[in-house]
Amino acid sequence: AIAISAGQKNYSYGHLLQSAFQISKMMHHGEGVKSTKSNGTVVGSEDLIRLRGTRVGIMAKPSAEFVASMWAVWLNGAVAVPLALSYPEAELVYILTDADVSAVASTEEFRDQLEGVAKKCSADYLVLPEVSCVGDTSQQENLTFEDMLAEIDKASSELEGANPALIIYTSGTTGKPKGVVHTHASIGAQVRMLAEAWEYTNSDRFLHCLPLHHVHGVFNALLAPLFVGASVEFLPKFSVSGIWNRWKDSYPREGVRGHLSTTVFTGVPTMYTRLLQGYDAMDADSQKACSYAARQLRLMMCGSSALPEPIMEKWERVTGHRLLERYGMTEFVMALSNPLNGERRAGFVGMPLPGVQMLIAEEGREEADVGELCIKSPAMFQEYWRKPKVTSESFREDGYFRTGDTVTVVDGYVKILGRTSVDIVKSGGYKLSALEIEAVLLQHPAISECAVIGVPDKTYGEVMTAIVVIHENVAAEASAKSEPALTLDAFTPWARERMAPYKIPSQLLVWDALPLNAMGKVNKKELKATLLKNAA
Ligand code: ATP
Ligand code: MG
Repeated sequence: AIAISAGQKNYSYGHLLQSAFQISKMMHHGEGVKSTKSNGTVVGSEDLIRLRGTRVGIMAKPSAEFVASMWAVWLNGAVAVPLALSYPEAELVYILTDADVSAVASTEEFRDQLEGVAKKCSADYLVLPEVSCVGDTSQQENLTFEDMLAEIDKASSELEGANPALIIYTSGTTGKPKGVVHTHASIGAQVRMLAEAWEYTNSDRFLHCLPLHHVHGVFNALLAPLFVGASVEFLPKFSVSGIWNRWKDSYPREGVRGHLSTTVFTGVPTMYTRLLQGYDAMDADSQKACSYAARQLRLMMCGSSALPEPIMEKWERVTGHRLLERYGMTEFVMALSNPLNGERRAGFVGMPLPGVQMLIAEEGREEADVGELCIKSPAMFQEYWRKPKVTSESFREDGYFRTGDTVTVVDGYVKILGRTSVDIVKSGGYKLSALEIEAVLLQHPAISECAVIGVPDKTYGEVMTAIVVIHENVAAEASAKSEPALTLDAFTPWARERMAPYKIPSQLLVWDALPLNAMGKVNKKELKATLLKNAA
């Protein structure tokens, strides 16, 4: 069965495993590894323990090489640390030093970028060999099925339970990224949970265009599919035309299915926004073909940040799919989801996944209507890497993890009001949700993207500043007339019809683009600091 496709190449589960064993031996024997470090972690024995318990950074595009090297790290009883391809050197050094990696592995294309950085962090460096694909006869080492079983058996004690397997860094939306340690047990619990909730099967084919240094790309779209024997097709990076074309190739016309046709797709809200912009720019024939093809998928999902309702509605009009929105964070991966079968409510993230428990806490009260979401889950992380104090502070005495997100529940569906630290704005005695206000703003005909931020105010405590990006066509029309596309004076009467007066932003800034991180999220803490600096 095909596990991975990338470009024109297909890789079976067997190919990936063969390579994983090969890479694991290279790591073990230090082949291709320039040994620059002797820090006591090198145990050195004939078994796979050279790297045991140590961290290994991996930098590779979403590819068979990424998967095989992650498995190789696990076979060595070591911990994989996926690295973002977009990290500037300073960020890379921060992560490699923080994770205290013993080795860094990358594909040839990142060698120049990484070899020096590895040296700086006194880590070994390994160039990953290419994984051979279906039809490639130059395979160096052919393990029989029995050999592979024996190898797995040998490594099985490494793959169990409480042994750390992955360190994934948080997006850094509220501070410096923190290393989140997941074990084989928490990974196992999570993939089972997702496969059950969303009915992943081995006839599913995922189209994957998410980064692999974040849980959405790693768990939802890679590990859970591989767990059930599905196949995953990697697009090297997100591309609007690449995705639409791939779906058109999957379902060229009625009754015909293309090669490896996509059945499941999962993305972040900005991806759907951009796919819709691409759709709007197509001619009528292409729109018809894309619409038809997209309708043939089994499931389309969205998460990692709030899905604006207008996007959800438009996506449904264009593709017939009501996006399944779910909620998660690096620490427990996915915890809440709209149902696969049943009502998917716009603006809500659904209910607990199988095995997950939640409660809403407010200071001084046990059960509150609006408050901090707290989670218990078998997929809960083990600890923040080398941050015991932060780890213990983030759990309540009864074992619930504090998410830092403020939520409310309506009819059993959870609504995310935002991060308590940046999205909950305290103005004139009210607690306002920046996310709710953003959702209203996005209904304005001129606004395509926006971020609402609370800034200090003498009278009200805080007032709202809205930073908006204008739809391209609206901006073009306005500039032809040499008029501003949107002003606070033009905006306020529109807003008065839709929001209570105290919710209306008192400042409106029109920007060309919002600063987004690799996951398409707005870093509000940074944005707020920029606003305050500009105001000063
Ligand atoms: P850091 O912890 O470093 O500040 P981060 O919290 O953004 O960064 P992640 O773990 O990637 O890092 O993101 C988790 C957060 O993303 C959640 O706490 C929540 O605020 C937000 N989030 C995830 N899914 C949704 C969703 N469907 N709707 C709204 N917010 C969401
Ligand atoms: Mg967080």
